[in-house]
Parts: sequence; structure tokens; C-alpha cells
Amino acid sequence: MALIVQKYGGTSVGTPERIRAVAARIAKARVAGDDVVVVVSAMGHSTDELIALAEKVSPQARTHLREMDMLLTAGERVAMALTAMALRDLSVDCVSFTGSQAGIITDESHSSARIVEIRPTRVQEELARGKVVIVAGFQGVSRAKEITTLGRGGSDTTAVYLATALKAARCEILTDVRGVFSADPRLVHDARSYTELPLAAVLHMARHGAQVMHHRAMEHALQHGMTLWVGHSVEAEAGTWLRPQVTSTLPPVLAVVSAEDCSCLTIIARDEAAAAATAVASHAVAGQLTPSGPLIKIPLSGDEKTCRAALQSWHDALIAPQGPHRRYTP
Ligand code: ADP
Ligand code: ASP
Ligand code: MG
Repeated sequence: MALIVQKYGGTSVGTPERIRAVAARIAKARVAGDDVVVVVSAMGHSTDELIALAEKVSPQARTHLREMDMLLTAGERVAMALTAMALRDLSVDCVSFTGSQAGIITDESHSSARIVEIRPTRVQEELARGKVVIVAGFQGVSRAKEITTLGRGGSDTTAVYLATALKAARCEILTDVRGVFSADPRLVHDARSYTELPLAAVLHMARHGAQVMHHRAMEHALQHGMTLWVGHSVEAEAGTWLRPQVTSTLPPVLAVVSAEDCSCLTIIARDEAAAAATAVASHAVAGQLTPSGPLIKIPLSGDEKTCRAALQSWHDALIAPQGPHRRYTP
């Protein structure tokens, strides 16, 4: 019997039907004999909605950092309680915990706190009683007993830290796309999906703008050699393994990602040599490109349209010719 941590993102728990589907998936893992810890994000766009609500009440809402954290942690709390109810309806014994109850201890930085320690005593006690434990993602408590949040997308980080602290066999990140692709499949036509990728490559992707994984989750997974599986929360079989090392042969160019503010693109190559060769081969179209390790940065003008067009054309030039791949069908 293995211990697995499953994290469900906002879209995956976005409606009552989806919460019931998530509960059914958790129940399946339980029936298969695994111990399961579940981390949930806030439903759908509820974090954005709470931010908008705060701004309607107070134009300076974003400066009220402590109170924003008190507000936003409510989103995950709603999702955890509803998921626990749906799971109980399937006769699966379970309990939900806030980040604080689960022993997620952070520093004091409201809105972008770092996890400094996990004290998962209550989680372990409930697992020992045979329960599924559902934890609210994206939140913790500081040593001064203040409630904190981990930054946007931080539920991934909750999941990976819990997985390492509990010595889980793996951490599954269940989301709205079928794994990690060579570019954001919602922006780039024909993006390539991978069956496996090295953790280090996905850390680069996360640091340079790929939303699919939170960069601190990837840093921690790499540091602890934790195997992750990123997959679709409904289509059970499709997904990407993220491992310290992979056994399959990877193509020279793995991904193209755009910065959130559209100020640049980053090409992520398999290794330094592949980046150097890619820079030389691209010279005629882009002028001199200077790789930094396995990365090549391409500055952009900063508007969304230019960014999207550049993403597609660099993907067409570098990744599309690299051979057959599983196509993304939304
Ligand atoms: P969740 O709410 O499940 O955490 P996110 O929206 O944070 O989901 O992350 C999933 C999204 O990441 C996808 O819908 C996709 O648009 C985006 N994304 C960006 N880059 C990539 C990539 N390289 N591979 C897969 N998805 C990506
Ligand atoms: N709900 C938070 C957000 O929208 C955290 C997360 O989804 O991981 O950023
Ligand atoms: Mg996310």
C-alpha cells in the first residue's frame, strides 16, 4: 500500500459536479488500497472573485496584506469542506484540514510566504485511522500564528511539501490539461505533450512563465527528488511524469515559454550543448542569441499579441520539426 498525494486545481473543483467527480477519483485510489492525502485549490475563479470583491470594498485592498490572506484562504477552505462532504457521500472516511491544522508552517511574508517547516502530526494521525485527509492548498500559518498565503498557484507547493514530509510514493498534480507540454497548449497550436520530463527542465519552465506548475513546488521537488505526475483530473490516463532523471531520449529543444508580462520568451533546451546549437542555428532569423546554460532568452516588445505570435513561430521553427508527438486536443 502506497501513500499518494493528489492535488486538484481550481478548474477541477470548479462546480458541484466536478467536486463529485474528484471525490469519485479519490475513492477509486482508496479502493485500490492507497493511503491518500488530497490538496485542493479554491473553486474555479473564486480567488480572483475574492480579490475583485475586496477591491470593491477597499481601493487599497492589495495593500492590506494580512486581511487579504485572511480573505483568500477562505477560497480553499470552501473547496476542502465540499470535497470532504462529497467523499463522505461515497462512504469514504475523511477529514478536511486548513493549512494551519495540517501543520504547514511558513515565514511571515503575507501574500507570498515560504514554507519553512511541515508538522504533519494531525495528518499522520488521521491517516493511521484509515481516513483520507483533505488539505486546503495555498496557505499556512506563521510562527506568530498569523494566517499566510503562498502566492498565486501555491497549492502545487502545498502538495509537494506535504508529499516530501509524509514520504509519499508520488505526488499527482491533477489539472485541466493532459500533462506538461512544449508550450502552453491553450496558446500554441500543436504543442507537444511529454510522457516524461526531468524535474529540472520543468523548474526552468515554471520560473520563466509556464503556469502549469508553481516554481517553488518544482524547486522543492528537485531538492528532494520527489516524483510528480501532472495529468488531467478527469481523463485519468493522460499525463506527464516528472522525475529527477528520465530514461527516454529527449529532443534537443524541450519547450518555449513566455514571461507573464510578455517581456521575453525563454527557450528551454535539453542541455547546454543543445542550447548552444539552437542559438547558432537561429542566428540567421534572430541575430545573435546568447544561451545561459540550457536557456535562451529572446526579448519582446511586451504586448500580448506579439508575445503569442512569437511563441507560435518559435515553436513552429524549433519544436514542430523534432518529430511525431501526441497532439493536444482540448
Ligand atoms: P490549476 O488550477 O489546476 O492549478 P493552472 O491554470 O494553474 O491549473 O495550470 C494549468 C494551465 O497551465 C493550463 O490550463 C495551461 O493553459 C497552462 N500552461 C502553461 N504552460 C503550460 C505547459 N507548458 N504545459 C501545460 N500547461 C501549460
Ligand atoms: N487559489 C489560488 C490561486 O488561484 C492557489 C492555487 O490555485 O494554487 O492562485
Ligand atoms: Mg496552478
